[in-house]
Amino acid sequence: MDRTEQLARLEDSNEVWDVIVIGGGATGLATALDATTRGYRTVLLEQADFAEGTSSKSTKLIHGGVRYLRNGEIGLVRESLRERGRLLRNAAGLVEPLAFVVPAYRWHERIFYGTGLALYDRLAGDLGIGRTGHLGAAETRRRAPNLRKRGLHGSTLYWDAQFDDAALALAMARTAVAHGAVVLNHVRVTGLVKENGRVGGVEAKTRFRGREFLVKGRVVVNATGVFTDEIRRFDEPEAEESVRPSQGIHLVLDQRFLGGRTAVMIPKTEDGRVLFLIPWKDRLLLGTTDTEGVEVALHPRPLAEEIDYLIRHAGGYLEARPTHDDIRAIFAGLRPLAKPPQAKAGGQSTSSLSRSHVLYSSESGLVTMTGGKWTTCRQMGEEAVDRAAEVGGLPLRPSRTADLTLLVPEEGGPSEAIDPDLPYQRHQIDRAVREEMAMTLGDVLCRRTRCAFLDEKATSRCAPKVAARMAELLGRDERWIEEELDSFESAL
Ligand SMILES: Cc1cc2nc3c(=O)[nH]c(=O)nc-3n(C[C@H](O)[C@H](O)[C@H](O)COP(=O)(O)OP(=O)(O)OC[C@H]3O[C@@H](n4cnc5c(N)ncnc54)[C@H](O)[C@@H]3O)c2cc1C
Repeated sequence: MDRTEQLARLEDSNEVWDVIVIGGGATGLATALDATTRGYRTVLLEQADFAEGTSSKSTKLIHGGVRYLRNGEIGLVRESLRERGRLLRNAAGLVEPLAFVVPAYRWHERIFYGTGLALYDRLAGDLGIGRTGHLGAAETRRRAPNLRKRGLHGSTLYWDAQFDDAALALAMARTAVAHGAVVLNHVRVTGLVKENGRVGGVEAKTRFRGREFLVKGRVVVNATGVFTDEIRRFDEPEAEESVRPSQGIHLVLDQRFLGGRTAVMIPKTEDGRVLFLIPWKDRLLLGTTDTEGVEVALHPRPLAEEIDYLIRHAGGYLEARPTHDDIRAIFAGLRPLAKPPQAKAGGQSTSSLSRSHVLYSSESGLVTMTGGKWTTCRQMGEEAVDRAAEVGGLPLRPSRTADLTLLVPEEGGPSEAIDPDLPYQRHQIDRAVREEMAMTLGDVLCRRTRCAFLDEKATSRCAPKVAARMAELLGRDERWIEEELDSFESAL
């Protein structure tokens, strides 16, 4: 992916694209990929980096959603399990099966969870990953050695899948570009262009040099997650609120607090939430929380009470209990909890409460897709493009993404490690800048590699060296290095 080449394709302001997508998270990337592979001329603009919003801060599970099963939302679980199967096939190497145990500390829990999870298995049908089953206490402890021994009756074993969210986002961007789309990070949409009451394009500005573009298109899709209403208000200044953020944080700990390669799912903590302990890149991810009433932000801040909550609750299920000093990294993301606005004359609203994503179009033709989850983003992209084609009067063509293989780069050979405590190497910085549109230190340390998500101290240690190498590749000076280091450290 060559950023200069991509930018050059936006130069001609008389050109009319078929589909313009605003937002480069899971939803926007899936939409752009769906549109371009149907043969629509497609542009995607992301104000920050790909997945820099919510999409790099997920629990990193591709899952049917055991929680939805508990709520009786069978259709949603079935849809998610079908998409899970497709992602395992289409993004092989990026999405992998993961075994979970649900520990039982009361005798009836094994029967209760076993029955529910057997149904989960059946709903997956041919796309099932592995058999659900009962494990005794000894086998449970063999799989999750640090699980609390006292009172453990056994567990239910089931299967889901896990992934690296930022890497999958990049694979979608890469694949969309390979199919002819223009996909750009660090280009912000600053307004909508309207002609005769219809949305006919966007005004956009690059982040670093402030270059401005007018991009015309037959239809514009708003896929901006928790920022959805900002874009809607370019269209309808009085638009009511349609998305509310709910914050979820994760703590990253040493893998010894889990002890094995099997994840643990606590389906109901004492206050009724789900808690995951997941092995990820030789660390343990512990999450998550659900905090409403927070501000919309690209880099939300974890609250002290969220950190305390996770440490306290995880401790209750573990032999060796983590303390605050054991935290290697913390990340916070905002769920775009969506409610569709009332449909006005000319607009359409097709959501229902049982669905996790919402899709609607305004009177002037702005298509908005929000809510949902990483697991179902392909389906969301397909639905958004179906609607966009209808609204933009594009020739109707079927989606091709259900069987589309995503492009994953080859692993480079070994080179110098960037830090002894981090599993990344120098050649990965070079590839990030040369081939993956990394422009900032955060792009490299948070998303092309996951250094800052694995170990904040080690990341701070290697940041000057990484910034210096990036400056060399990007032709930047000492001042750029200092500014990048300052802004990166203040975001940590
Ligand atoms: C704590 C947590 C855990 C989760 N865990 C899972 C999980 O394990 N599995 C799962 O399937 N799902 C999970 N999810 C849900 C999933 O992460 C989200 O549904 C998904 O990432 C949302 O993607 P999005 O593209 O809609 O939003 P975002 O990723 O936020 O993308 C929106 C993008 O729009 C950009 N943007 C905003 N304004 C503009 C503008 N003016 N111009 C250009 N660009 C703009 C933003 O910069 C942003 O990058 C989790 C969510 C949270 C919060």
